[in-house]
Amino acid sequence: MKIICIGRNYADHAKEMNAKLPEKPMFFLKPDTALLPKRNPFYYPSFTKDLHYECEVVVKISRLGKNIATRYAQEYYEEIGIGIDFTARDLQAACKAKGHPWEIAKAFEHSAPLSETFIPKSSIDIKNLNFSLKKNGTIVQTGNTKDMIFSIEEIISYVSQFMTLKIGDLIFTGTPQGVGPVQIGDQLEGFLEGQKMLDLRIK
Ligand code: MG
Repeated sequence: MKIICIGRNYADHAKEMNAKLPEKPMFFLKPDTALLPKRNPFYYPSFTKDLHYECEVVVKISRLGKNIATRYAQEYYEEIGIGIDFTARDLQAACKAKGHPWEIAKAFEHSAPLSETFIPKSSIDIKNLNFSLKKNGTIVQTGNTKDMIFSIEEIISYVSQFMTLKIGDLIFTGTPQGVGPVQIGDQLEGFLEGQKMLDLRIK
């Protein structure tokens, strides 16, 4: 099982990172050890001093496929959740400056906490889905999937040109504006259409 994360898929976030808009989807991977087992606490990693949250809509692949055409991509996922693409922003900046891969900043242990439940895509409008993140009770990120630069179908099609998608693979579809740091003691809550899906305390 693999976790595929899309970078810079919302124009307002690319802008806040002083990054150019991508011409094609940009993705990187996290290992399955990036998942946070249910009811485990999340511990602030010792190797960073600038841990950032990135709240993202997560797609669960439901069918094996490769070289999937965009027009058929909707048949390859049934459920949507929400997750946090934790990022060691200081390590990421150092990797970027050297042109190095950024796994140490993105793919570390428990860097991909996920909602316990996923909701069927048939129950929502996937092309107009509101999501948000609260930090200590205050909304810090709001997004809507209509603002994605690349749609879920385009992402599935693109990624599947390079690697087979397998049942259970997860795609983090990119974060909107408002990423920021967390501290020990902070509480993060993720919402899909106002429904609380994720509740995480930083220890
Ligand atoms: Mg991200």
